[in-house]
Amino acid sequence: MSERYSRQTLFPPIGKSGQEKIRSKHVLMIGAGALGSGNAELLVRAGIGRLTIVDRDYIEASNLQRQQLYTEEDVAQKLPKAAAAEKRLKAINSDVEICALIADATPEKLEELVDGVDLIIDATDNFETRMAINDISQKYQIPWIYGACVASFGMSFSIIPGKTPCLNCLLKTMPLQGMTCDTGGIIGPAVQMVIAHQGSEALKILVEDWNALRTSFVSFDLWRNQYTSMKMSKAKDSGCLSCGENPTYPYLDAENRTKTTVLCGRDTVQVRPPKQQQLNLQETAEKMRDLGYQVKANPYLVSVEIDENRMVIFQDGRALIHGTKDLAQARSIYQRFLG
Ligand SMILES: [Zn+2]
Repeated sequence: MSERYSRQTLFPPIGKSGQEKIRSKHVLMIGAGALGSGNAELLVRAGIGRLTIVDRDYIEASNLQRQQLYTEEDVAQKLPKAAAAEKRLKAINSDVEICALIADATPEKLEELVDGVDLIIDATDNFETRMAINDISQKYQIPWIYGACVASFGMSFSIIPGKTPCLNCLLKTMPLQGMTCDTGGIIGPAVQMVIAHQGSEALKILVEDWNALRTSFVSFDLWRNQYTSMKMSKAKDSGCLSCGENPTYPYLDAENRTKTTVLCGRDTVQVRPPKQQQLNLQETAEKMRDLGYQVKANPYLVSVEIDENRMVIFQDGRALIHGTKDLAQARSIYQRFLG
């Protein structure tokens, strides 16, 4: 398919040499939800060499309104997003090496994955993971592109170690909406607008067109017709613990992390095991059935109904406890069966 990328190579800032650069690059995508789906599809269609995509969740019906890689069949099968994304992306472009991981993007996991990565794209929905990405980016000098959206609002900023301020610097100067769990709903176009901003910056970084990079922080509200672009160069803080003169990378520190997290915008708590592990899901499913619970399982997860709650257990020992925002209750359900 020599014609495959013709429209992209005809674009002078990319050209044939840019296409070869895109082909030689490795992108790490953190999250396979709305932003992850769109960004991944864009890069895979653009002919990226290698894509690693990490996501901790599985597909539900409420995702279909904006998460473009998924179908009703994926919902029916309760497929993890990473597994369904991998299948779909390989069907779109079989030339791209795609590695999909059903996992939580913890600092340890990020450290394992960054070797050889040229760019990290933020497609997550929570503060903890974004700050870990920010520290990893500074520690290993890898650019990353922040993106967030809620309701009809969205924003993006490209962080280049050694050049731009980092996300930790920006936190001191502005309240970052979308950094925390919001439940104001979301419309598809707000997602697509953030993807357009992240995706075009990603292409510039991949073809190494550094002068073309946007240096401002963009935000918009598509419903209220507002667009803003703020210069951020003055926000860089030489005392910043992530990107300053004596960095300590505070968000990579295990002491700062919780094992139990409320997931964004949902009555769901994630509980992580104290140590990395590999569960035998088949045995887990049988054990729960023997205890008299209603169990559904596929090769990636086991879903169990426990009174008013549903616990979904993954191979890495994590569990999502649906029907609660109470961390203690979620921990006690987890410990009863998996502790
Ligand atoms: Zn900083």
